[in-house]
Amino acid sequence: MSTDDLARVREEFLAALQSAGSEPEAVEAVRVRFAGRRSGLLRQLEETLKSLPKEEKPAFGKALNELKRFVEERLAAAQEAAAKGAAAAETVDVTLPGRRPPAGSLHPVTLVRREVEEIFLRMGYSVADGPEVEDDWHNFEALNIPPDHPARDDQDTFYLPGRLLLRTHTSPVQIRTMEQQRPPIRVIIPGRVYRRDSDLRHSPMFHQVEGLVVDEGITFAHLKATLEAFLKVLFDSRLAVRLRPGFFPFTEPSAEVDITCIMCAGKGCPLCTGSGWIEILGAGMVDPRVFAACGVDPQRYTGFAFGCGLDRVALLKYSLPDLRLLFSGDERLLRQFEGVRR
Ligand SMILES: [Zn+2]
Repeated sequence: MSTDDLARVREEFLAALQSAGSEPEAVEAVRVRFAGRRSGLLRQLEETLKSLPKEEKPAFGKALNELKRFVEERLAAAQEAAAKGAAAAETVDVTLPGRRPPAGSLHPVTLVRREVEEIFLRMGYSVADGPEVEDDWHNFEALNIPPDHPARDDQDTFYLPGRLLLRTHTSPVQIRTMEQQRPPIRVIIPGRVYRRDSDLRHSPMFHQVEGLVVDEGITFAHLKATLEAFLKVLFDSRLAVRLRPGFFPFTEPSAEVDITCIMCAGKGCPLCTGSGWIEILGAGMVDPRVFAACGVDPQRYTGFAFGCGLDRVALLKYSLPDLRLLFSGDERLLRQFEGVRR
């Protein structure tokens, strides 16, 4: 052991202290290693001093004392800096804004559904609901779609055990409403429906809203006026509504309903494939056979029904390019609807 060894210890100490920085635990570890009372390096050097030959003791002792003082001073400074750092980290700045948990947003389809409901509630309708797992009677037979009817082929149905199925449209709720309620009836029926269909424009689960009005003296004029009022509030008061002959097994006569293209205002664009019109819903007068199936007297009552795809309305209203976006669960889409309340 010589004073050179002490110089090496000093270098080692400085390096350890530097890497400890102002981290309180690291500074404490350095203190224990070098200045620890029982087995610190300095304590060991004191033992070494005792065993040195007499003539070497004075020089070594002097150098050791200097080293001890140096270590004490540096440790004290490092401990002070570490304590300050810890105190600063613990200080709470009460002027900082609180941390908010991320807020959710309503899904565009929910927004559109609520808007449609509001429009019809204001017109005196009520909202009806029905099961998504249906039986053949309510989904097909009572709606004038017997087992051999070609319309069944259009609706690729998910069949379930026990002669049950996932409803292919919201129309079975029309039947359930008429079975439970005598006219006058004014309901809208929003809900999920299912078909074995999946591509750019189809999803195996999608949303429809259906309307049904049954009373004495209801005519096609009531249907047209109702749909015009509805579509103008939903999209744009300036749009035109056009009815074309259509076919649905449960209405007679039936119509396909178009609106002026909301993208090009009727001039023609890719969205409307140049026609200036967009097909938006299907409608018609309730077929007397449907009334008969539900025990409603077709001699006394007439009515109209209409249905439209809520997802399609959401795409059009919010200019979204792809149906699948709606069901992707992509937060980036949903964040665009933050703060939109309805
Ligand atoms: Zn267009």
